Amino acid sequence: MSKNTSQTADTFEFKAEMRQLLDLIVNSLYTHPEIFLRELISNSSDALNKARYRGLTDKDMRDADAPLQIKIEIDKDAKKLVIEDSGIGMRREDLINRLGTVASSGTLEFIKNLKDAGEQKVGDMIGQFGVGFYSVFMVAEEVTVETLHADADATAWRWVSDGKGSFTLEEIEREHRGTRISFTLKDSADEFADDYRVKSIIKKYSNFVEFPIMVGDEKVNSVRALWHESKDSVSEEEYSEFYKFVTNDFSGPLGHLHLSIEGASVNFKALLFIPENSHYRTMGWQNEKTAQLYSNKVFIMDDCKDLLPEYLHFVKGVVDTEDLPLNVSREMTQNSPVMARIKQILTKRLLSLLEEWAEKEPEKYAKFYEAFGSPFVMGVNMDFDNRERLIKLLRFHSTTTEGEQRTGFADYVARKKDDQKDIYYFTGDHRDSMQNSPKLEYFRKNEIEVMLLTDPADVMVIPSIDKFEEYNVVSIEKADLEIKEDESTDAEKEQRISDEQADSLLASFKAILGEQVEDVRISKRLVDSAATLVAGAQGMDAHMERMMKMMDASYGGSKKILEINPGHDLIKNLARIQLGGGSDEDLRPYIMQLFEGAMLLDGALSGPTDFVQRMTKIMTDATQK
Ligand code: ADP
Repeated sequence: MSKNTSQTADTFEFKAEMRQLLDLIVNSLYTHPEIFLRELISNSSDALNKARYRGLTDKDMRDADAPLQIKIEIDKDAKKLVIEDSGIGMRREDLINRLGTVASSGTLEFIKNLKDAGEQKVGDMIGQFGVGFYSVFMVAEEVTVETLHADADATAWRWVSDGKGSFTLEEIEREHRGTRISFTLKDSADEFADDYRVKSIIKKYSNFVEFPIMVGDEKVNSVRALWHESKDSVSEEEYSEFYKFVTNDFSGPLGHLHLSIEGASVNFKALLFIPENSHYRTMGWQNEKTAQLYSNKVFIMDDCKDLLPEYLHFVKGVVDTEDLPLNVSREMTQNSPVMARIKQILTKRLLSLLEEWAEKEPEKYAKFYEAFGSPFVMGVNMDFDNRERLIKLLRFHSTTTEGEQRTGFADYVARKKDDQKDIYYFTGDHRDSMQNSPKLEYFRKNEIEVMLLTDPADVMVIPSIDKFEEYNVVSIEKADLEIKEDESTDAEKEQRISDEQADSLLASFKAILGEQVEDVRISKRLVDSAATLVAGAQGMDAHMERMMKMMDASYGGSKKILEINPGHDLIKNLARIQLGGGSDEDLRPYIMQLFEGAMLLDGALSGPTDFVQRMTKIMTDATQK
């Protein structure tokens, strides 16, 4: 740095590196010029923090009793802005060494590389390189900094620069401790000479700065940084108010999590909320915003997706960490180990909160589940670290629950029959039609509970769970279901067709249906119905196939196994026709009708024309007799 002495002010040339950097800032940052205000307020807030800290021990510091605040003056006509704080201030050497240089070497290279990778990022990341102050040159041609340090013997200085090649320094008279930054806005930035605009930027980025930010006589940042306070100093009322502020919700949250983590790996504070209602139906999950990221009370970014796993993105609130640089970009949060650690801790704590609700406040948990069950259950297939905990938190309808009531795996197991080795589920569209499905007959007769899954998220997730504790989780539609040889009475058994009759009837079914089915078998699960389709060992449940077809029109589906009920009158009649010499062709219309009827019940019959025509024919014949 060279120094030219003039009569009043000393002129200092910026180092070459600094000049290039300034050029980059001014010409690359234009994407978000409003961030200059955030950077200046953030610097003032830091300076105020330092003054406050020093005041704790040094009663002789200058203006020891001065109110700690940031004042912003706007002269709309003259397009002038002044940002003044009563912070620690700067000595002459601070102005030269701190304000006039790049904090770390290599910064320029880094920024250049970023610029080559895409200009936008440079704008978003600039603050973290310790050059945030210079963002003011996006909106001003020339900037004046007048400052008086808190040291009792310090003198006041004026620093003036056009942010291009040099700055000047001169000693001035200044009464009070702190820093005053003033400039005239460029024509392209005159929007920032507007009270309303300035206030809204402050509200957006700096609302939780803990020192008052005054625009004229108005304190613009109204809300306290609740997450920095201890739990017992914040009332439920205040949590609720804060929640409403953060989310713009009208009603309060279902609950909150207030954390202060100080550890070897990461330090952060968090105040998170679980809302009572989701906006899912009106907005879709994609438009739900999750928590905000702060760094020491300075707003960094909204909707910071990397703070929480996707299945918890309905959680709102604030996470504040100084372990990440100010102005960190979204790209950086994605790959940051600090972020990964925060996410890990937050996830565990949120799951603990939900577990507590599930155990001690089941009604609250049920409310939560009603609102956010759909995204939440997806966690089972996304978060393998917490999979077991998530499985325990699942709730579903079953043949024993009523209305909106739900039950979980643990309760199911507590209720199940002593000799029952499996946990059963059944997937479909509507509980009512499912309850009447032939597939449930065996379970109803034997009073075995079956989970009834209708939520698409459940349908995707539950089949991926093989076991809960030592019990297999199985679909009642699986052909190889190990259900006990039924407890039918001997009298019931006598009502059935004989084994030989069954064998020859099955042969006829197979001959008629051919390639349309994987197999035809005698059913153990049917009680009242004549036939049903089940999935082969590798096949998918009917409902799952329907969903697959909706997503992919070319998906043909897998072949099913047709099960027939040997005790049903219709099956017995067919056996009798065969005994009386009836051929496969004589049986064809009935076999086809049974098969397509079962398809129809599964929602898998593509065209009903043949089915209806055949039925009409059968009815015509029946009514002629
Ligand atoms: P950073 O704040 O990241 O260090 P800046 O370029 O914004 O980078 O600021 C450089 C330095 O200038 C700060 O570290 C601080 O020492 C000093 N400074 C800036 N603004 C103020 C202010 N309002 N009061 C006191 N010191 C300030």
